[in-house]
Amino acid sequence: MDEFRLIERFFRRDSKSSEVVVGIGDDGAVVKADTNEQTILVTDTMVAGVHFPERTAPQDLGYKLLAVNLSDLAAMGATPNWFLLNLVIPDADENWLEEFSTGLFSLAEEFGVELIGGDTARGPLCLSATVGGHVKSGTALMRNGAQAGDQLWVSGTLGDAAIGLDLVGGVLGANDHDMDYLVGRLNRPIPRIVLGLSLSAVATACVDISDGLLADLGHILRESGALGAIVDVSCLPLSPQAIAVCGVSLARQKALAGGDDYEICFTASPAQRPQIEQLRDQCNVKLTCIGSVRALSGIALTGTDNQDLTGIKSGYRHNWP
Ligand SMILES: [Mg+2]
Repeated sequence: MDEFRLIERFFRRDSKSSEVVVGIGDDGAVVKADTNEQTILVTDTMVAGVHFPERTAPQDLGYKLLAVNLSDLAAMGATPNWFLLNLVIPDADENWLEEFSTGLFSLAEEFGVELIGGDTARGPLCLSATVGGHVKSGTALMRNGAQAGDQLWVSGTLGDAAIGLDLVGGVLGANDHDMDYLVGRLNRPIPRIVLGLSLSAVATACVDISDGLLADLGHILRESGALGAIVDVSCLPLSPQAIAVCGVSLARQKALAGGDDYEICFTASPAQRPQIEQLRDQCNVKLTCIGSVRALSGIALTGTDNQDLTGIKSGYRHNWP
């Protein structure tokens, strides 16, 4: 199958979005931009064997590729509009493409984002997407606005995806029920778009947790002017499944340093607490205050006897020899 038939068969959909003037099929896409809005662009690449185990189901890969990008938009407080897809695949396996595109478009339709172009090439499996969204001008949530005295909040539960990865790799074991839940959290993160939109009015800084809480919180603190934080480890939100599979101590380590959570970490003035507690119900997402920001730099962990945190490495980083 050649490139053009592949795109036509698996990736071309009827346009529904009012933002898209010209979608797939020309040299470039044409999208509208509103004068009162700013465009937010995010991109993410997933390499087989680096970002996901080689045997991950193609439906999950399609879903996750878009989900991780939407998570970045959520962290900016943006509404997603359209995306570009770059696919490097070893062969044009029709079953693989059918499943991959099904997973991809299931999430695209849920959030009303339209595929407007991209590229395909033959080579070792590598998936990349670029997503465009918008905010009302001047309302983008950024990493650099945290203040000493702000409270520190996270959405959902942390550490599930890292435990899911250990289950897939056979490092940990679990019953079928816990396995399904935790591997589902690894492969099917829920982009917190609705939460992100609501946070524009209350948060001072925001980041999505992709490389582990300590690493991503570190970005907020650094960008906000070498601030520090106290994190109460006993407050970290853990799922019952995470605790059942590896116990509280290891689950806390995974929550602090495991990757792939795609939950939201944000800071807000203590005065915003009632509004944040309302958001919990409005957005139907768990929100937990886990500590506070302070002027003294570095992240201090309280609420634990530290000995169960000795194995912690803070976050994933790509390195080149
Ligand atoms: Mg991010």
